[in-house]
Amino acid sequence: MAKNIDWGNLGFEYSVADYRYVSTWKDGAWDKGELITDPTVHISECAGVLQYSQSAFEGLKAYRTEDGRIVTFRPDLNAQRLIDSCKRLVIPEISQEKFMDALDQLVKANSDLVPPYGSGATLYVRPYIFGSGPVIGVAPAPEFQFRMICMPVGPYFKGGAKPIAIKVSDFDRAAPHGTGNIKAGLNYAMSLYAGQQAHAEGFAENMYLDPGTRTKVEETGGANFIFVTKDGKLVTPKSDSILPSVTRRSLMYVAEHILGMEVEHREVLFSEVPDFVECGLCGTAAVISPVGKINDHGKEICFASGMDEMGPVIKKLYDTLTGIQMGHLEAPEGWIHEIK
Ligand SMILES: *Cc1c(COP(=O)(O)O)cnc(C)c1O
Repeated sequence: MAKNIDWGNLGFEYSVADYRYVSTWKDGAWDKGELITDPTVHISECAGVLQYSQSAFEGLKAYRTEDGRIVTFRPDLNAQRLIDSCKRLVIPEISQEKFMDALDQLVKANSDLVPPYGSGATLYVRPYIFGSGPVIGVAPAPEFQFRMICMPVGPYFKGGAKPIAIKVSDFDRAAPHGTGNIKAGLNYAMSLYAGQQAHAEGFAENMYLDPGTRTKVEETGGANFIFVTKDGKLVTPKSDSILPSVTRRSLMYVAEHILGMEVEHREVLFSEVPDFVECGLCGTAAVISPVGKINDHGKEICFASGMDEMGPVIKKLYDTLTGIQMGHLEAPEGWIHEIK
């Protein structure tokens, strides 16, 4: 494939890479796995994923450092989270080693799709696993595929991160004791309608409250919340139905151990949100999106950081974490995995 890619003008869109990784589970075991060139999946018309949504996924990025190496950020946490998702969805588990082997093979084979340092673009890697064998009675599929694909994507914010406005949703993202804490494809299918409504009303995202009592902050459709208090503490909601974001967990570590901030991981009442001075959404795609205001059924909560730029504390967190990812700042032990 000719690599005449305009790295500066990439969006967040699917494109067909040269290679993808696939491994199949059949008769009680995963096969060795291999790279293939066919971008089309051939499965039963009655596959478990098509009938009963038996699927889970992950998302991470590979990027080029200033000295030309290709690295990924804490992929062991994505592997572990996929294993947790598999357990909950009765999908045969893959091992951490298998995940890392697939990642290394995939990124290496598609290395000319890893954007150059400084372009702002990255190689987005999407691991996923699904029931490929036929089921009609409700049951786990008899056959599964573990796949990993990748595509170069542009910087999430072209021209800097502008604060967004979000709304409090009347829908729930996850049920108590449901699948909110795993990366199941079905969670996203469920959030599409609510997301479309928020967009139609001019909001970038939905804030979901806890489905049990509707008094506590959970997360958005695809990112965890972080808040900053007046006295400079980092506060982030804790709940069994929040997806454990790798970015959020990394920011908590950076805040406490590198920036010397106090960090609170606890239940956050919606009623205390107006007391915070900064708010952000965190996830792999954007790292942190600053939130300028939250609309609660017509009532606005406006953060002191405003609608023009990131607040100072969130900016410091953002610069430190992206500095570690890009190799400008020393990374904590084990955070950077080089693809060789
Ligand atoms: C993937 C995801 C996130 C972000 O997780 P990262 O590991 O930081 O990318 C947050 N919330 C939900 C619901 C997600 O699916």
